Parts: sequence; structure tokens; C-alpha cells
Amino acid sequence: MKMTIDDKTFEPFIEFNMIEKRLRLMGIQLNLDYEDKVPIFICVLNGAFMFMADLMKEVHIGCETTFVKVASYHGDTKSSGNLIEQLPLLIDIKGRDVIVVEDIVDTGRTLKFLLEKIYQKEPASVKVATLLLKPDALEYQFDEISFVGFEIANDFVVGYGLDYKGLGRNMADIYRLVGQQLPG
Ligand code: 5GP
Repeated sequence: MKMTIDDKTFEPFIEFNMIEKRLRLMGIQLNLDYEDKVPIFICVLNGAFMFMADLMKEVHIGCETTFVKVASYHGDTKSSGNLIEQLPLLIDIKGRDVIVVEDIVDTGRTLKFLLEKIYQKEPASVKVATLLLKPDALEYQFDEISFVGFEIANDFVVGYGLDYKGLGRNMADIYRLVGQQLPG
């Protein structure tokens, strides 16, 4: 069923049971790849909180979790070029295997900014798990993106942690903006 947030209409796009299935597979891959390691999962707030929580339940190896927050987007439907670390990395990752957990990689500017900060702290390895990836919007090539939930077109999506004007993060399913409503 369609739903409205503020001035925009959204339609169902990816149902939670599809997300669950995908996360189970991602968990299997992570459990194998990091079998002999104790990785640190770095959740990128706010959008990735729900993905992180559900993904962690599929990870059965020893691991640590931590959180960072980068402000890259100011309540509208477009990514902003201005990035600030609102919550920096608070634990030592030197020599550790790191997995960055992102909700969505759009242009990749946020991820590039984050990876630069992370590499400065000399981790042993860095990989990225992102729930959503918009390949046509990507402005950089990342070798670190090893775990992708769903590749999607350049549509604006909400739900499952993702918001529009602060709303919609609590919905279990993912919705996409109907038609060409994206502001220019
Ligand atoms: P990037 O820096 O990769 O262009 O954008 C990353 C950030 O922009 C995401 O973490 C998210 O906050 C926001 N963003 C990009 N695309 C979408 C989208 O389709 N829906 C929502 N809700 N946020 C998005």
C-alpha cells in the first residue's frame, strides 16, 4: 500500500522478508570470511541502525561493535557535499579487521570520507557491508564493498532505518518515492 510522508508519496519496494533472507546469506558469508578473526563492526548512524541490529543476529563469530555518525544529509532527498563527524570512532582499531556497516551507498561521498578517517587509524583490513547500493550514482570505485544487500536504481527510498525528513526509519519494509518527485 502507498504511504505519504510530508509532501511525498512512497510505494512498497523491498519487503522485510526479502531483507531477512538477504541478511541470512550475508551472515553466512561474514561467518566464513572472518572465521578465525574477531572483527569490529562499525555501524554508521543513523540510517544503518536497523540493518546493523538484524545483521548482527546472523553473525555467530566473536566480534565487537561500535558506532559512528556522519552528517551528510539534511532532511531532504538529496545527499549533501558537506560532511561532519558528529560521533567519531571512539575505539582503537589499529591492527584490527574492520567492517563498516552502511545503510546505503549513493554517490559514495560519505563512505569515502569515512574510509579516509578509518585508514588513518591503521586497521589490518577494511571491508564494507551496505544494505543498499546505487551503482548508477556512485562517483568513486571502492574495493572495500564486499557485502551488498540490494543494488537499486537511483530512486529515493525510506524505511528500515532510512528516513525522509526524519520520518519513516521505523518501518520494517523499504519504500520508494513514486514517480519523478526528486527535487532538482
Ligand atoms: P552518499 O554520500 O553515498 O551520496 O550518500 C549517503 C547518505 O545519503 C546515506 O547514508 C543517506 O543518509 C543519504 N541517502 C542517499 N540516498 C538515500 C535514499 O535513497 N534514501 C535516504 N533516506 N537517504 C539516502
